[in-house]
Amino acid sequence: DLADIGVTGLATMGRNLARNLARHGYSVAVHNRTAARTHQLVKEFGGEGTFVPSEELAGFVASLKRPRRAIIMVKAGAGTDAVIDQLAELMEPGDMIVDGGNAHYQDTRRREAALREKGIHFVGTGISGGEEGALNGPSIMPGGSRESWEALGPILQDISAKVDGVPCAVHVGPDGAGHFVKMVHNGIEYSDMQLIAESYDLLRQALGVSPAELAGVFREWNEGDLGSYLIEITAEVLDQVDAATGKPFVDVVVDQAEQKGTGRWTVQSALDLGVPVTGIAEAVFARALSGHPEQRAAAAALEGPALSGVEGRELVEDVRRALYASKIVAYAQGFDQMAAASKEYGWDLDLGAMATIWRGGCIIRAKLLDRIRAAYDADPALPTLLADPDFAAELNAAQEAWRRVVTTAVRIGVPTPGFSSALAYYDGLRRDRLPAALVQGLRDFFGAHTYRRVDREGSFHTDWSGDRAEHPA
Ligand code: NDP
Repeated sequence: DLADIGVTGLATMGRNLARNLARHGYSVAVHNRTAARTHQLVKEFGGEGTFVPSEELAGFVASLKRPRRAIIMVKAGAGTDAVIDQLAELMEPGDMIVDGGNAHYQDTRRREAALREKGIHFVGTGISGGEEGALNGPSIMPGGSRESWEALGPILQDISAKVDGVPCAVHVGPDGAGHFVKMVHNGIEYSDMQLIAESYDLLRQALGVSPAELAGVFREWNEGDLGSYLIEITAEVLDQVDAATGKPFVDVVVDQAEQKGTGRWTVQSALDLGVPVTGIAEAVFARALSGHPEQRAAAAALEGPALSGVEGRELVEDVRRALYASKIVAYAQGFDQMAAASKEYGWDLDLGAMATIWRGGCIIRAKLLDRIRAAYDADPALPTLLADPDFAAELNAAQEAWRRVVTTAVRIGVPTPGFSSALAYYDGLRRDRLPAALVQGLRDFFGAHTYRRVDREGSFHTDWSGDRAEHPA
């Protein structure tokens, strides 16, 4: 019998995705470059459902029902191109190739255009949730054509996470839209983690409390507005004690954060689109700073303030509020970036739907996403999430605490780039007049770049080197 769907690339993610499909009653063609992995899967998990193994890609394609549906879960990059090319050779018009790896959305746009020429649907799909999600229900963000969604959507919704019965999988939009949205998801994930790390660091330094005590604080926060997977696992990690030394686990881990690149991609794209994603950018840069031990060692003699701590536990509640407010800012910026890309590439993204599919399965799943969904339901054309009346009220209520947190961090010399830049963004956005007016004046002075006036239409230039009279430009 022919298989309903296939998975090629059976490392951690592919294997678990194939098992998830099989457990939902689909017969799954399975293939891996190194055949041993394919046999291993069937041997270990064959009892979970129907697997149709193939050692060769041709056999894999031949084992699929028409129109064929094949998911690629191989290492992102050149390997993906190689596998796509081989598959495309073996496939026919109307067939579907799904790339579930973390591809760059521009690669996905290029691949989709090339395969469209051959009549093959290429579906660049973001999949989030790691190993566990792939098996038990990830958040799935497919791009590609409407027709491919009609053929794939029911299966993807079936195997995705569900929240209140709603699947965490929707058709995101054409060509690279799915991988773009997955990229921004990861960027927001960077920012969430940075803000959590700053909260931990500031409270530990300022109050002199132990990681285990802070685990309790995060556990409590997880019950409220901050409720989320990342806050939940922060408590787990802070509670962990190293078996070898008896020290807190966080104290034996080398303090250099690594990255695979999706955060960097998010910021690079944001620069091109002209969207200030300061929360994500600060998170990427904070990882980069941590990764330069030679500079950090060389700078160790630089002095900090005399004050190293503060009295009283009020800071705990202030940090909770600052974390929530900064998180709202980071999400607002990420959603702005998706809106800008939607316009640039004609994707017609439904931002509320993105909040919906991130409520379960993925790494940034959080209570906040229900609120974001509600904000876009109330006003699909919301210019910024910060303007949503409910979020605005919360930010207004948090802003004094947020300022105290940043002030305390500065006074005791604890770096909080996430909190500080989010607050600066908040203050920038709410100002009626910005010093950008002076920047425009300077640009006109040295480069005759012209400026607009507050009181008249048109562009103007002042003759700075002559009589300083103003002329229409
Ligand atoms: P890896 O990224 O470690 O990739 C290993 C798999 O890719 C193996 O099956 C390997 O085959 C195959 N492969 C590599 N190069 C080639 C090639 N040139 N031709 C054919 N096959 C090749 O696997 P993961 O399961 O961790 O991730 C798969 C994809 O999912 C990646 O794109 C990753 O970015 C993405 N992803 C991963 C997540 C995670 O939590 N790990 C979360 C979300 C997405 P072989 O066995 O023969 O070496």
